[in-house]
Parts: sequence; C-alpha cells; structure tokens
Amino acid sequence: MSVAASSAPIECEVVIVGAGPCGLFQVFELGLLGISAHVVDSLAHPGGQCTELYPDKPIYDIPALPVCGAQELVDRLLQQIKPFNATFHLGQEVTEVRRETDKRFWVRTAADTTFHARTLVIAGGVGSFQPRRLGLEGAEGFEGQQIHYRIKSAAAFHGKDLVIFGGGDSALDWTLDLCGKARSLTLVHRRAEFRAAPASVAKMQQLVAAGRMRYIEGLAEQLLVRDGTLAGVIITGKDGARHELNAEQLLAFYGLHPKLGPIAEWGLELDKRAIRVDTEKFQTSVPGIFAVGDINFYPGKKKLILSGFHEAALAAFGIQHHLYPEKKQFLQYTTTSPIMQKRLGVTGN
Ligand SMILES: Cc1cc2nc3c(=O)[nH]c(=O)nc-3n(C[C@H](O)[C@H](O)[C@H](O)COP(=O)(O)OP(=O)(O)OC[C@H]3O[C@@H](n4cnc5c(N)ncnc54)[C@H](O)[C@@H]3O)c2cc1C
Repeated sequence: MSVAASSAPIECEVVIVGAGPCGLFQVFELGLLGISAHVVDSLAHPGGQCTELYPDKPIYDIPALPVCGAQELVDRLLQQIKPFNATFHLGQEVTEVRRETDKRFWVRTAADTTFHARTLVIAGGVGSFQPRRLGLEGAEGFEGQQIHYRIKSAAAFHGKDLVIFGGGDSALDWTLDLCGKARSLTLVHRRAEFRAAPASVAKMQQLVAAGRMRYIEGLAEQLLVRDGTLAGVIITGKDGARHELNAEQLLAFYGLHPKLGPIAEWGLELDKRAIRVDTEKFQTSVPGIFAVGDINFYPGKKKLILSGFHEAALAAFGIQHHLYPEKKQFLQYTTTSPIMQKRLGVTGN
C-alpha cells in the first residue's frame, strides 16, 4: 500500500471513495481484472466502520471465517490487496466530483488532491466520519490552532495548559498520555459513567487523587477569549458550580458521527441517504460512477459486509466494461487463471 500526499491532478482508471471493507475489497476485485485504483478516505486509516466503531468486536458472518475481529478483517483485506499496490490518500474527504466533457471525472479532496478519473466507485458507507464538535460560540475560529478534535503531534501539547473533553477511550488515552507532559491538565466529562476502558478510568482517578491533574464532571459553557486569543473555557459543574479554566489548548474527543456530506451534491439519484444503483453492475444514475457497500440502495439491499463484497465483484466487471468496452469479458477462476495468479504474485506456487 502506498500513501500519497496531495499533488497535481492524477490521471487514473478508478478512484474509490472510502477505504472501509467494501472499498478495500473493490481494490481486490479490480486488481484481479488488471485495473489499478486510488483510494481516498476522510479518516487517517483504512477500515471504515470496522476500525472506527468496533475494532475489537468479533464478526461471525464472514464466509469461511467462523469468527474474525473487525480490525483483523481489515488487516486481512489489506494483506489480500497488497499485490495490487493501490495508492491511498488518507485523512482527506472527497469534496467535489464533476463530469468532464471527455466523460472523465474531475475529483477533488479537501486536501486539494485532484484526479482525472475515468470511473469512480463510491464506497462511502454511512458517509464521511466527522468529529462531534464542541458547539461553543466562536469555537470554529480556533479550530486547528487552539481547539482540536484529533491530535497530529502530541509534542505540540507538551508544556501547555490543557483541557480535554470526553469520556471515551480517546479522551482517556490522551489524558493519560499528556498528564505530566502538559503544564496543567483538566479532564471534563458530562457524566459519572465513562465509555473508556475501566483500567484507564482508574488510572486517571489515581492521577487526580495524587494531585497531578483535575477532573470536573460538567459541561463546557463558554470560551474565554482575550485579545482574539483563546485563553480558556468556562465549565458548569454537575453541582452547578462555575469553573473558569485557563487553557491554551482545548482537546475535544466526543466521538465521530457519519455524515453523507458532499456525496449528496454529486448529482446522483438518491434514495433517502443512499445512492440508487442497478443490481447488474452496481452503477449509479451517472454512467461511470458505481457505488458499493452500505452507501448504495436497491430493492432487497442489506447493509452487510458480505453483500458489499458481492457488489464489489460485479461492479469490477461493470467498471472493466466501462473502461474497455471492446474487451471480451469472461469469468476466470483464481485457482486456475495464470493471468490472475500473475497479478496476485503467486505464479509458480
Ligand atoms: C457495531 C457494528 C457491528 C457490525 N457488525 C457487523 C457484522 O457482524 N457483520 C456485517 O456484515 N456487518 C456488520 N456491521 C456493518 C458493517 O460494518 C458495514 O456493513 C460495513 O462497514 C460497510 O462497509 P463499507 O465499506 O460500505 O462502509 P464503511 O465501513 O462505512 O466505510 C466507508 C468509508 O468511507 C469514508 N467516506 C465516506 N464519505 C467519504 C468522502 N466524501 N470522502 C472520503 N471518504 C469518505 C468513511 O470515512 C469510511 O471510512 C456492523 C456495524 C456496526 C456499527
């Protein structure tokens, strides 16, 4: 797997929007047919819902795997698609898709990576995961500078006065990581119960008891701004007490929520929050744009990983026909096809 940074327009056969299990398997099915793909995901890592929402949970309905952890499934898919060398563009949402006059698609991401793609597969699942934001007046203006929803470099917070919001694993993990490295640290969570691992919560409580950090059960009410700079935040405690916290940096880990987002604006026929496709090729209402996995809709649709895998297999044939209509299509088995085995890098085994 190669990971690309933003660059000049990339000419390619296929762009896959979404690196969830179905987007990853799409790479495989295209690879078997000799078609290479670029994969874009707004998350910083592949895996979609499996990695983001339930990495440690066991899945029992993947054919031939009686039980498989969700992250394990993603790892296995990544291993399976390795021979096809897809290029991944992670941490960037696809924001614009436009049909060009020559029937190619102009695709652009939030990080300004652009593609001239001959076909597009939307494997966007339940949409682009977005961080739940603080929701305080003026917070948007400080985003990325003094208010953060993900951490790119922990070192940037060393020696700073920090307030961390949230009660899940991310909030607790970063609290434990940054306690002792930040100048001061306060964790704020709205209720007594935590979603984080009990061991992390216990560790945090020990640090509070040892006077190494503060914990407040309460809600953020208002930002403190002095001379245009964020200076802290006002918290209303569960007991009604008002806390004025000085802070240079606020980190909020309220989790992620899926949003159909820009996909809704690409001129595709939708059915509620899903993209209508045919069941022969899984093509959308726009020829050359296909959709697989949770994002699509057709009569009888079931949002299951194995359904998405089937859709990816048929979409690959549809894409091949769209790209090379003159090419005769025939079914080959990986067991016996020398060309497929060559593509898989297993020739001679
Ligand atoms: C708790 C839980 C348990 C589950 N258990 C099972 C199970 O046991 N068996 C089963 O079959 N299914 C299960 N599912 C459902 C399964 O996870 C989904 O069917 C599967 O993840 C769908 O895969 P996907 O690739 O279509 O989409 P997703 O996994 O949702 O991935 C879509 C990806 O697209 C990205 N994306 C979306 N829009 C954009 C954009 N504009 N630009 C860039 N990236 C974008 C998203 O960031 C995301 O990473 C479960 C789901 C949950 C929540």
